[in-house]
Amino acid sequence: MSRVSGSPVWHPFTQHAIAPAPISVSRAEGVRLWSTDGRAIIDAISSWWVVTHGHCHPHIMAAIRDQADKLDQVIFAGFTHEPAERLARALIELTPSGLTRVFFSDSGSTAVEVALKMALGHFHNLGQKRTRILALEHAYHGDTVGTMAAGARGVFNAAYHPLLYDVTRIPFPVAGLEQATFDAIDDICRKGDVAALIIEPLILGAGGMLIYSATALAEMARIARHHGALVIADEVMTGWGRTGTLFACEQAGLTPDLLCTAKGLTGGAISLAATLASEEIFASHYSTDRTRTFFHSSSYTANPIACAAALANIEIWRDEPVMERIAALCELQQRHLATLGNNERFAKLRRIGTIAALDIEVSDGGYLAGIGPALQREALARDVLLRPLGNTVYVMPPYCISSDDLDQVYRALVDGEAAARDEVRP
Ligand SMILES: *Cc1c(COP(=O)(O)O)cnc(C)c1O
Repeated sequence: MSRVSGSPVWHPFTQHAIAPAPISVSRAEGVRLWSTDGRAIIDAISSWWVVTHGHCHPHIMAAIRDQADKLDQVIFAGFTHEPAERLARALIELTPSGLTRVFFSDSGSTAVEVALKMALGHFHNLGQKRTRILALEHAYHGDTVGTMAAGARGVFNAAYHPLLYDVTRIPFPVAGLEQATFDAIDDICRKGDVAALIIEPLILGAGGMLIYSATALAEMARIARHHGALVIADEVMTGWGRTGTLFACEQAGLTPDLLCTAKGLTGGAISLAATLASEEIFASHYSTDRTRTFFHSSSYTANPIACAAALANIEIWRDEPVMERIAALCELQQRHLATLGNNERFAKLRRIGTIAALDIEVSDGGYLAGIGPALQREALARDVLLRPLGNTVYVMPPYCISSDDLDQVYRALVDGEAAARDEVRP
């Protein structure tokens, strides 16, 4: 017998003993979510960073409907289909030049798992003993066991530590102190056993919206490469315009050896991911020797409906003024941050591209800071979806958000924070 009287659903990153009942959503359009009980909520976090052009973009919805009439799903080993072929070519065109192979999977986590396995497989096939992974402090690369290992250790993965492989942690390139990061990479790479440096380019998302410079990114990659290590760019969050360019690597003039994309790949409509690889990495797996096969698949690899959604997303980038929308949003975000600059409750106001973030001054910092859930509740009471990372609040809306709607988001942030502060005050 279950002790649960209500819904049997176990929600992600949710402590059911204290979480408020989830809001049931029945419809979405643009930046708005409509709840079953008739509320219209502004989605200021793009539904966990996935929605780029707005919910239910008609072009993507139509592409999904069209594809669903033709081909739903087919095994992707020994078979292929037009949407995947066209999408792979388009992705090679759109990503930094030098990436020539595309491997499909289902989520950001699987895209990163694939990249890590390709990096290890590459050196294994070459007969080189390179198995060490370098990753940044505060990194987040997903929630599967393999990607958790590459991510920072913390309260989220304490229970799983015995399963997590060893990763060499590199200090975050704090502005002005980047040399420490470069030196750490250089030192460890001299051992000659580094397979790959994995990085979130320009901004560490789940680790607290920590921004660093494009020059630091370029230099970190250069040093790793110089020592024969591969560079994996985890663009799962940063891809598709978030940082102001289509991919964040562009700002550093960087072509990584492996690039992971998911979230905004379908405009946020449906799950799909891709790992792009250099020809060298494909070549080390290419052999009449079957033991060199890249042994990885998920059942729904390159699902045709998801690929059609991604193609429609790319058409929107081509046919609509997306870059202009992004530029306008960047400017609005900057203006809001400037007005919050006088508020002594807010610190470390920062922005890269369309993403704005700040830290709330609290005594109990970190992910479990009490202010986070309180502010989330107060913002929701003001019909705005925010989801602070501990005491870090960020605003990452779909690019179609209007100036008025963004005003409402920031009003909810400021007023909600004041109300939340009263609530959590001891
Ligand atoms: C969200 C995220 C992931 C994981 O993606 P999922 O689709 O949630 O598995 C990996 N890396 C980064 C940088 C992310 O932001």
